[in-house]
Amino acid sequence: MTSIHAFMILCSYANCSAIVLNSDKLSAVASLTSPNTPPRRIILALTKFAVLIAIACAGCKHSSVSPPPSVAETVDPWKEAVSKVEQDRGEAVGRNATVEIPEQLKHHVDRRRFLAVQTADLQGHVDVISVDFADLVSLIRRHAVVEMKQLGADYILYGVGYSVSGEPFAHYDPATRQDIPLAATEGGVMEEVQRALDAVKESTARLAYLESERRRAPKRERARRATLLSQVGQARKALASAKAKSKLLAAFSADPKRRKSLVAEYQLLSELARDFEGETYDLNDADARRRLKIRLLSFIRPEARDLLTQIAQNYKERFDRPLPVSSLVRPVQYQQELAGTNANAACGPTPPHSTGLAFDLYYRYMSAAEQEYLMSVVAHLKDEGRVEALREARDNIHVYVFGNGRPPDEKLIARVIASWQRSVQIGS
Ligand SMILES: [Zn+2]
Repeated sequence: MTSIHAFMILCSYANCSAIVLNSDKLSAVASLTSPNTPPRRIILALTKFAVLIAIACAGCKHSSVSPPPSVAETVDPWKEAVSKVEQDRGEAVGRNATVEIPEQLKHHVDRRRFLAVQTADLQGHVDVISVDFADLVSLIRRHAVVEMKQLGADYILYGVGYSVSGEPFAHYDPATRQDIPLAATEGGVMEEVQRALDAVKESTARLAYLESERRRAPKRERARRATLLSQVGQARKALASAKAKSKLLAAFSADPKRRKSLVAEYQLLSELARDFEGETYDLNDADARRRLKIRLLSFIRPEARDLLTQIAQNYKERFDRPLPVSSLVRPVQYQQELAGTNANAACGPTPPHSTGLAFDLYYRYMSAAEQEYLMSVVAHLKDEGRVEALREARDNIHVYVFGNGRPPDEKLIARVIASWQRSVQIGS
């Protein structure tokens, strides 16, 4: 599957982590990563890929080569939907289109209000916030969130979760913003503790080595000394990070309750991976872990799903295209992962998407008329007090659906802003 990953280096994050993908690559990748893809379809897709690559290569030499009938005649609904989304509109699209942005989709005069409104609302829904993937699985088990298929009647999940890594599942500690490895048994937790200690030892040795090299480097070798100095700096950071990780893991393992929770989270995930409504995911395989994560990121709160499908229906009726949706639920852990590559993705300690009440609509390929229509629909919902929304500069319209169907109390919003001001003053 690693060859497929080569096709995934296509992403550029937007404010709300939407992804810019090229249609052929997106559809091929999507059909391969789709959690519901049976093995035979994977083989078929791989064969198609090979054929397409062969055609592309052959095309370099013989420009008159046409695709074999079997490829040309196959109608793949996913591919068709993607090509409709990306179809050339024959006019300026996305950010290049001249559009009138309704006031409801612009930032408030006090820019903090946008996030404050959502933060105030989600304080009433703390029971549905997912800090990490294990939390999200608990929400799925409780039916607090529902799955959105990759391709709906009127929408398409366009790159949802595609930036997620295939790293092993981990517990996320919001206080330290660190991942803590999960383990199948308590013995496994202790092994992780040992591994973290070993990592500290290795980092210490590497730093000592680099420092001695730097001391020994003659002064005239200025370039080498500069390189070593920079390597020493990196090694110091690596050591600090290894120490922090080891310390945190030691604290978790020393506390029987927290130690057990690491095992419980692993079991919760492996139980789901064994049978996720008929699909199986091998937690020891990076590609399978990634597919499972993508599927988990395709969930949303039912209230938000209902509104999203309603918007999609309106859009499809009007423009005969599926509505591209670029983001649904995002646990704090995943949000943090995105923030590592994109500073814009960070949205405070409890990002709105972690509730499953938010979704992003992708307007990159839309004409001015499409965008204006979509914005008018969302603006109307905002007037009705059902959503908070923002047209973001980077191709997304972010929509947050109020959990109770109405905006949070103004006093609560003011309290959120005041608490931020306090924490800035304290310097925390
Ligand atoms: Zn968003």
